[in-house]
Amino acid sequence: MTNDSLKRLREWFKKNAVSLPWRPANLDALRDPYAVWISETMLQQTQVSTVRDYFIRWMKRFPNIESLAKADEAEVFKYWQGLGYYSRARNILKTAKNICQRKTDPETHSAGSVQAPSGMTENAKSKMIACKMPETRKELEALPGIGAYTAGAILSLAYHKREAILDGNLVRIFSRLYELDFLPTESTSTAEIYWGYAREIADSPKAYMHNEALMELGRTVCKTKSPLCESCPLNRKCRAFADKRIAEFPPTKKRTEKSWHGTVLVIESADEKILAVRGGQKFLDAQLSLPHFESQRGATIGIPAQAENYINTDDEESIKHCGTFRHSITVHKIECDILNIKLKVNAKRASTAPKYATEWIEKAKAFETFANSFSLKALKKVFLDSLTPLHSAQDDKGNGSRE
Ligand code: SF4
Repeated sequence: MTNDSLKRLREWFKKNAVSLPWRPANLDALRDPYAVWISETMLQQTQVSTVRDYFIRWMKRFPNIESLAKADEAEVFKYWQGLGYYSRARNILKTAKNICQRKTDPETHSAGSVQAPSGMTENAKSKMIACKMPETRKELEALPGIGAYTAGAILSLAYHKREAILDGNLVRIFSRLYELDFLPTESTSTAEIYWGYAREIADSPKAYMHNEALMELGRTVCKTKSPLCESCPLNRKCRAFADKRIAEFPPTKKRTEKSWHGTVLVIESADEKILAVRGGQKFLDAQLSLPHFESQRGATIGIPAQAENYINTDDEESIKHCGTFRHSITVHKIECDILNIKLKVNAKRASTAPKYATEWIEKAKAFETFANSFSLKALKKVFLDSLTPLHSAQDDKGNGSRE
């Protein structure tokens, strides 16, 4: 997301942030991590309007971790009654007891990563240290009931750390902004794509505000049904909005695997450069990749008409079919023919009016320039004999990247 979009998001949030019992009036203030933890846990699968009163009652009875750790399960359940999913309440109690029982190091007065301020009495120090929420993702996620989302919320909203969160609201927004036709729950690689976008917006001193603003935007504007796109601060950059395809995102169900057959072009100029394209292709949008398009199996005789989208096909000197490769990107099972087209002209004279954004890269640097295994696989097939051993280790890095 661009800095401009993030600025508009922050401005929108400052104007539209709803008053909530767990949200201070000053949106830039550090927060009580205990209150963040309790509110975020209550909000899982429960409406904000329902949680509001439960949270107020809870905080009156259990204002801090210490008071909660001393409670018994029956009483905790009483204060949870009506929110459902009682395992959440059970885990909250377990975690409170766990935090308060952590051993304090007598030398450093620290428990885990928590440090006591100087000037406190020994008694106060041990109480404060022993009952403080941890400040690292690793420690938080080791506690019962605290997963990646809650840990990210505590770290960013309470401690203002640059930590990402990903809940249903952010998934819906990312899916629409970038037209992601898959869900993070489908595979490790699809989850990584969503978390990649979440980390991008959290890579800022204002991560706490970006995270909370997106959750609020998802709840009040980018709603599941009838989103209010005209008043959305991100509408200028939203692909689904621009393409009038909002109803298609996010996909409603886990998608089954899709087969895709295509052709990838390795186009070489007379001065030893290779044509790369950025965007407008079926896969690897916004990444530098080799030109590719959908085609029938075996439709590789002669120069394909689609090559005219990148070069002047009259400049062709030779064309060679270099085999096929298989690859997976998100839910797509890809099979591609590879065509190596050599041109009789230098790069400067080729591709005079390409349909897509193209650039010529040095052939000798091709393996270090492309950062996706889709393109690297095709290059390897073409140049295996003439350019060995060029970066063979880069081959097939799997599907963890944003491909
Ligand atoms: Fe959601 Fe519409 Fe905003 Fe896109 S423009 S993020 S679909 S509210």
